[in-house]
Amino acid sequence: MTIIRCASCDGFGWFEDEIGLGIDCDWCAGAGYVYQDAAGRDLPIPQQDYPHVAEELEALEAERLREMGYQGAAKKPWQQQIRQDTQLGRDPYAGDKQ
Ligand SMILES: [Zn+2]
Repeated sequence: MTIIRCASCDGFGWFEDEIGLGIDCDWCAGAGYVYQDAAGRDLPIPQQDYPHVAEELEALEAERLREMGYQGAAKKPWQQQIRQDTQLGRDPYAGDKQ
């Protein structure tokens, strides 16, 4: 199964409504990325799969942030979820924070 950037939210995982509230993207369930099957259909990545695809999502996210010229970014729901179970979501910059 291929993982691609969510076409609906363009990897953000959420939208900002007119009064500035964040709303989870329902196309990707807030992950910002979706599975694409052999028939080209997009499927949300189940939350229980996050630990298994964490490294691939991290790489995709790093690429997306580079495209936007970011040096850092807010954490996404899947990154927080990963932290609960594995070491993969560990923030390499955590030591720099106050
Ligand atoms: Zn989305």
